[in-house]
Amino acid sequence: MRDPFPKFKQLLKKTGKIVIVTHWNPDGDAIGSSLALYHYLKKTGKSVEFIVPNSFPEFLNWMPGTGKIVNFETQENKALKLLAKAELIFTLDFNAFKRLEKLGEVLASTPAKKVLIDHHRQPENYADYFFHDIHASSTCELVYELIVGLKGKDLIDKKIAACLYTGLMTDTGSFKFSSVNTKTHQILAELLKTGIQPQAIHSAVYDNYSAHRLRLFGYALSEKLRLVKDYPVAYFCLKAEELKRFEFQKGDTEGLVNYPFMIKGIEVCALFSESEGMIKISFRSKGKVDVNTFARTYFNGGGHLNAAGGKSKESLEATEQKFLDTLNTLF
Ligand code: 5GP
Ligand code: MN
Repeated sequence: MRDPFPKFKQLLKKTGKIVIVTHWNPDGDAIGSSLALYHYLKKTGKSVEFIVPNSFPEFLNWMPGTGKIVNFETQENKALKLLAKAELIFTLDFNAFKRLEKLGEVLASTPAKKVLIDHHRQPENYADYFFHDIHASSTCELVYELIVGLKGKDLIDKKIAACLYTGLMTDTGSFKFSSVNTKTHQILAELLKTGIQPQAIHSAVYDNYSAHRLRLFGYALSEKLRLVKDYPVAYFCLKAEELKRFEFQKGDTEGLVNYPFMIKGIEVCALFSESEGMIKISFRSKGKVDVNTFARTYFNGGGHLNAAGGKSKESLEATEQKFLDTLNTLF
């Protein structure tokens, strides 16, 4: 990570109007890091707005500040006005404008200075300030370090800590991925000192399935799990009609992709689901198997070494076939 603090501090000092944006289909880290930064900047006296490209899962609704979030998809005019007035735009948990869909095109044409805070691989070069580390467990970890670097640690209250804890938790599979290290746990310890209740946060995020969602998982596991012959790969394909049968809501398939890792020897898991007229794809891997490059090369996506996503405009069957035809390149 370059050290942009001194210049960045100066810029922040003279900036009044700030907008924070995060990626399409925001997850716990996207919403957590953005809301934490939002609350922190507000506490330092800034005018701050947080815009998402589209809606986020219901299981994040409890987070402090979600009521203030502007949704570009449903409040485009409001969002455009805020972006036109912004002096500084923070872009969190992504590193390529295309991760914002239409909002990305707007962003590319705004004159405001841009700040990138992210931990995904191969960032685009759009930012004036760059807080990027692919070894960070989460964007929340980077936001924590940014706040500390700005000498703002004392401003981290329970609200900010709960947001940061959530992103750290969701992006690390509850602190079990290889990205977790001593620093991650030291940050968590500092966050706990604010009085947040980890058990309540875990419960708010994970113990809130609808019965339909749990049954969808059951159906996928018993009926839809495919194991690839000759490769340590398991995957699911879910049709729109199947998702509809289980009254699919945004976020309902989150986490499903990881389940096949419970099978001894599995190194790559994938989930293909028909959503909004295209195929949404999730890849997960273990060890050195690089799903970021794979998703980038064949599925119009990217992400991390061991967790990446993508999309396909072909049919579910054609997408599955392409996966089967290309997965040899993973090994
Ligand atoms: P998920 O499978 O949970 O949707 O995403 C896994 C990881 O890959 C996340 O860090 C996410 O931000 C990233 N990701 C998901 N979809 C895409 C995509 O279409 N393009 C890129 N570059 N990254 C993605
Ligand atoms: Mn993240």
